[in-house]
Amino acid sequence: MTALPTGAVTQLMQDRWDIVMMRNYGTPPIALDHGRGARVWDVDGRVYLDLLGGIAVSSLGHAHPAVVEAVTRQVALLAHTSNLAIHEPGLALAERLSTLLPGSTRVFLCQDGATANEAALKIVRKSMQGRRSEIVATHGSFHGRTLGALSVTGNPAKRAPFEPLPGPVTFVEFGDVKALRAAVTDTTAAIMLEPVQGESGVIVPVEGYLAAARQIADDVGALLVVDEVQSGIGRTGEWLMCAAQGVLPDVVTLAKGLGGGLPVGAVLATGAAAEVFATGDHGSTFGGNPVSCAAALAVLDTIERDGLLEHVRTVGDHWAASFDTVDHPLLAGHRGVGLWRALELTEPVAAALEVQARSAGFLINGVRPTSIRLAPPLVLTIAEADEFSAALPSLLDLVMTQVSS
Ligand SMILES: *Cc1c(COP(=O)(O)O)cnc(C)c1O
Repeated sequence: MTALPTGAVTQLMQDRWDIVMMRNYGTPPIALDHGRGARVWDVDGRVYLDLLGGIAVSSLGHAHPAVVEAVTRQVALLAHTSNLAIHEPGLALAERLSTLLPGSTRVFLCQDGATANEAALKIVRKSMQGRRSEIVATHGSFHGRTLGALSVTGNPAKRAPFEPLPGPVTFVEFGDVKALRAAVTDTTAAIMLEPVQGESGVIVPVEGYLAAARQIADDVGALLVVDEVQSGIGRTGEWLMCAAQGVLPDVVTLAKGLGGGLPVGAVLATGAAAEVFATGDHGSTFGGNPVSCAAALAVLDTIERDGLLEHVRTVGDHWAASFDTVDHPLLAGHRGVGLWRALELTEPVAAALEVQARSAGFLINGVRPTSIRLAPPLVLTIAEADEFSAALPSLLDLVMTQVSS
């Protein structure tokens, strides 16, 4: 039998995809088979360094023994209970998450980022019932694809086909304290923000922005909802960015990296916001599924046991320093925090760089025409980080020849 040419299995799967899948994603350029640590193998046997981690999700990398063990054990015990029964993994996870914020915190477990933000929006609605409904959110934000989460997502292209969306929502420039202060009035129910905008290209606001938002919300009696779906659980070298900055929101949402690849989200509410939901106000059949919760507990345990918060800061700083040494006409600069970085390009060639990187065995994300996002597993080693930094100049050279030809 003759060997299939490189990429043949991928091509066959892409053909099947094009026939059966809805067109909302476009056809992915890659078909993955398995992974280990920060590496993944595609269906044609090609290996890649995964510097996107399933969009900031695979926090412990792929097939981490702690996650494999926890999930295997739990699925063999009990895969599902519904919310008509208590189960230990869900209860233990809520207890652990409640300690990430000071004071009395209650937790709602759900499946993902959008369902976490939906619950947060319902907490806001009910707290302000009949008095205030306006939410102030930010341009360039991303809070998810359900109608509620989309209503506070500041991306016109994602919103337009689905209008009218719930509201009212007012959008202000991200990071602009003055604009936030001007927009928030005594009719504002809540301010909703990401500490750093991930989908916009790892946009880090001015120092003190979150604290200012807290103050502005307090001044008018509005709630502060902080979406840590992408920033939370170690991505920045902290459990939560808000807590690390000494800011206590009314509501914090989590998902992405929490389950180490298993779908789980969480809403943390403090103070009065924690007491808003009464019996019957909200629910989810699959939310806080025991298998996902067991995975999340394994993630939290491993981050703690292996000192991964510190590791993320060390490798992130090292990576940033290595990008500083790359002097190339296509590289305008870089930004980010922890293992959450963006390369800013001088030309709209992010998609081309993503393609070149993939051919060279690196999975990266052209999150905007001029921005590359990096959100690798938190277990990425310095040596692995260096592999990419070392390859970067020649990858940029390859893109350069395309641009000038
Ligand atoms: C990804 C993301 C969401 C949406 O999460 P899903 O799990 O895709 O629903 C919400 N908020 C932020 C900040 C995100 O990065």
